[in-house]
Amino acid sequence: MNSYDVIIVGAGLAGLRAAQVLQRPGLHVGLLDAAAQVGGRVATDVVDGFVIDRGFQIINTAYPELRAAVDLATLSLAPFERGVVLRHHGADHVVRDPRQDPRSIATTLRAFPGNAQDLLRAGRLITRVSRPSVTHLETAPDVSTIDALRELGFTSRVIEELWRPFLSGVLLRDDLATSWRFTSLALRSFVRGTLGVPAQGVRALPQLMASSLANVDIHLSTRVRSVSAHAVRSDDASFSAKVVIVATEAAAARGLIPGISAPEENGVTTSWFATPSLNGTPILRLDLDGRRTTNMVDMSAASPAYAPPGSSLIAASYNGARRVEDEHRVAEDVARLYGLATADVQLIVRNEIPHALPDLRPPLSLRRDLSIDGVLVAGDWTETPSIQGALVSGRRAARRALSLVGES
Ligand SMILES: Cc1cc2nc3c(=O)[nH]c(=O)nc-3n(C[C@H](O)[C@H](O)[C@H](O)COP(=O)(O)OP(=O)(O)OC[C@H]3O[C@@H](n4cnc5c(N)ncnc54)[C@H](O)[C@@H]3O)c2cc1C
Repeated sequence: MNSYDVIIVGAGLAGLRAAQVLQRPGLHVGLLDAAAQVGGRVATDVVDGFVIDRGFQIINTAYPELRAAVDLATLSLAPFERGVVLRHHGADHVVRDPRQDPRSIATTLRAFPGNAQDLLRAGRLITRVSRPSVTHLETAPDVSTIDALRELGFTSRVIEELWRPFLSGVLLRDDLATSWRFTSLALRSFVRGTLGVPAQGVRALPQLMASSLANVDIHLSTRVRSVSAHAVRSDDASFSAKVVIVATEAAAARGLIPGISAPEENGVTTSWFATPSLNGTPILRLDLDGRRTTNMVDMSAASPAYAPPGSSLIAASYNGARRVEDEHRVAEDVARLYGLATADVQLIVRNEIPHALPDLRPPLSLRRDLSIDGVLVAGDWTETPSIQGALVSGRRAARRALSLVGES
């Protein structure tokens, strides 16, 4: 029998953050995960010398809880450019936030797919989401993202040619049914932060967090089969604890805690392609002509370490964790957007990720203190579907656990 003060089930970002906060002299903490490594959804594989994150994901320096959890400088973030390239009617149109790059005003005005009113509305929206305080975004009445964009008065042209193509890759839903409260928080972090990937892949983030856990027992390859307020049972061991935190993805939480209300999740597929060296720009590309993918990005343009010398690495993502029927045409899309012959675009690997993001519909309730039958619950789905949300949920559950064991 392994006996702990606190056991955390799940060593994703939520569980790792909980473990960080629980590190106190004399407090015995166990962190259990079914996988062979920490990090959960934030994972990276190296395939034939290419650094392949499990799905295209980025780290945002504007996340306050991330800055509390790690020293960002240690991550050596390789930044992406702010903006998107829209491929439409065979031409590239570059849209940037002119407040961040005043030299881009003329090209952005030409590229922006909407009328002058749309441009003003976009400016007002950016100003609104980037105010210092966040309270107005968290407390405004919540509707779906598509309804919010319409209520803000955007024309269907700018919705269909900019907002939907961009946001469907953020929310992992083409219909934009996700909570506007979440979307406006995400837009806020895009406007206020720098977006990037650690030079050697996103797994550097959970690895850095795990390396800060000096007094925590980490049990990997340990699939938990049942939990109760004071006990955890895995395939081949039993653990006891004063407090148990379940910090798994929503689907796993449903399996471990009968009767819990946890959202469904949206899936995504990312296909990773090797190409000859492109010497390209690290900017998101949206293909309005093909419309098979939600976005593409040249990862090696941000961090050369993602591809071996002489090659580039392109991530092409689409919604749904399944291979689309015309998957072979995604390589053609990559070739078209990057000006290559299709034969020069070679599939390395395809990640199909069913539980990528919790499907949070309006009204989104933030800061839910979840405790079911004495078991504390964390995970991005209890807060916001993001790195920030996962970290905040872990910290909150840990604070609650500290008070339960008399350490607050
Ligand atoms: C493709 C993709 C792209 C993303 N892009 C971004 C982005 O750009 N920006 C952003 O902010 N967020 C992004 N996210 C979301 C972000 O990665 C997640 O919100 C966050 O990592 C969730 O962390 P978590 O700890 O809540 O859950 P998880 O990472 O899912 O961790 C849960 C852990 O529980 C473990 N577990 C489950 N069941 C058991 C069991 N029975 N026993 C033991 N262990 C168990 C799992 O193995 C896992 O390690 C993206 C996610 C994906 C998948």
